[in-house]
Amino acid sequence: MNKLEILKRHFGHQGFRPLQEEAVDAILSRRDLLMILPTGGGKSLCYQLPTLMMPGVTIVVSPLLALMHDQVTALLEMGIPAAMLGSMQSFEEQQETVRRLRRGELKLLYVAPERLNNDFFSQLLSTLPINFFVIDEAHCVSEWGHEFREDYRRLSLLRERYPQVPIAAFTATATREVEADIASQLGLRDPVRVRGSLYRENLTVSARHRVGDGRAQLLDLLSAHKGESGIVYTLSRKQTESLADHLRAKGYSAATFHAGLSAEERRRVYEEFVADKIETVVATVAFGMGIDKSNIRYVAHMSLPKSVENYYQEIGRAGRDGLEAETLLLFGAQDLLMQRRFIDELPETPYKAHAYAKLEKLWRLVSGEACRHKALADYFGETLPECGERCDNCLAPAVERLEITEAARKFLAAAWRSGQRFGAGYLIDLLRGSRDRRILENGHEALSVYGIGKEYDRKQWSSVADRLLELGGIALNEHKGVVLTETGAQILKGEREVLIRKERMEKERRTPKPQP
Ligand code: ADP
Repeated sequence: MNKLEILKRHFGHQGFRPLQEEAVDAILSRRDLLMILPTGGGKSLCYQLPTLMMPGVTIVVSPLLALMHDQVTALLEMGIPAAMLGSMQSFEEQQETVRRLRRGELKLLYVAPERLNNDFFSQLLSTLPINFFVIDEAHCVSEWGHEFREDYRRLSLLRERYPQVPIAAFTATATREVEADIASQLGLRDPVRVRGSLYRENLTVSARHRVGDGRAQLLDLLSAHKGESGIVYTLSRKQTESLADHLRAKGYSAATFHAGLSAEERRRVYEEFVADKIETVVATVAFGMGIDKSNIRYVAHMSLPKSVENYYQEIGRAGRDGLEAETLLLFGAQDLLMQRRFIDELPETPYKAHAYAKLEKLWRLVSGEACRHKALADYFGETLPECGERCDNCLAPAVERLEITEAARKFLAAAWRSGQRFGAGYLIDLLRGSRDRRILENGHEALSVYGIGKEYDRKQWSSVADRLLELGGIALNEHKGVVLTETGAQILKGEREVLIRKERMEKERRTPKPQP
């Protein structure tokens, strides 16, 4: 049978997708392969199909047991003899798999990377006719990526131990740097490189400064997607719970998903979500890998994701069916500071400097005003034209700005006069002339800055504070007290201007009182 017949007969597809055939041909000609194709692009077919045209067994290294299990089940349903060796299997099952391998009955064997350290297993491999090795999620071999795994690093052994066996590496996302690292770590020999475009034209991508807790902005998004499926990412279990409560109170069918739930609960949420019984899943990043649902219409982030790679993957879960979908990222300067603090804690290695640089790029991407699709593609080393109509920046290019230097100076003065010890919330109370007990106890109603900021509401003031953080005019001490920086001092002295996007200074929206 030739490629196309196998494609139709075993996989039930009418033709190859772009780039699949190139990858299949590379494998059939026994070349090494490095394929970078966004999730959903159809990577598995690229190694599953040629395997059927080769005499031996193909060994697939994959990091996730659940993913392996799904793949094996799908292969068996297609009538392709496949198995996995994992810690989930009983001893008897494993023995049976080994027997079938020896008898040459299997076309594909899925294993976790640590299995290759096992002497018995590597001995076994050297007696088998191996078609080629597949390294799935190959970015895990690189420390410069976003999911480095120690046990992937040892995959360099494969080339050393089985020098004649070709290697095919697959990943959804890799910067040029990570791509080069994968090739060198795995010892690929002049691999055929196949790189798909990252552009997802059915996604409308937006990123905005979070206003307050961001819930009003989120509800705006959700109200445009009533009855549709979506994911909302938050940072912590606690946040998922309280946000899901809030959404339910607003009439949305929302459930939570995080690592604190039992496996059973997680499975239930996942299944009900896939079956469209739950509209919105409020989740930590634990909800991700291997989500197989094509009609997700929106993905929202309540704060800055961990990296550009994570961001791309997380928003990429929307609109797999090719129909329109929307993504919204809400971020604040506090997110940046928090992540920076995590990196501060790391030991001094080259990795640390790299982590700061990566965070900086993420921040520039989300707070920047360039086309989002173009900026994402740039990050991964792909050149794209501006999307023109698929991101907030292209849709609203003429951003109106307000000058808020006076407000910024008032805020800085409040921090300075009160001794650089108080948090933004307190300073805002002070500026607005609040009779809050703490202010009175501190005698701060006597300060010259008391009540000089009544023209702005709390939300507007918190935008001023955020803007100052972004500009580096203020910093927060370990108790979240606002302190002035060099830049802040310059602003206070009137030596620098402060501008802000106009929409960030809109007054707080109040639900109108019902008319009698
Ligand atoms: P990836 O591993 O790149 O995320 P998958 O291999 O899981 O992607 O494939 C995604 C989906 O695309 C699967 O449902 C698969 O059946 C489908 N698919 C793959 N190749 C083709 C093709 N040539 N024609 C139609 N559908 C395809």
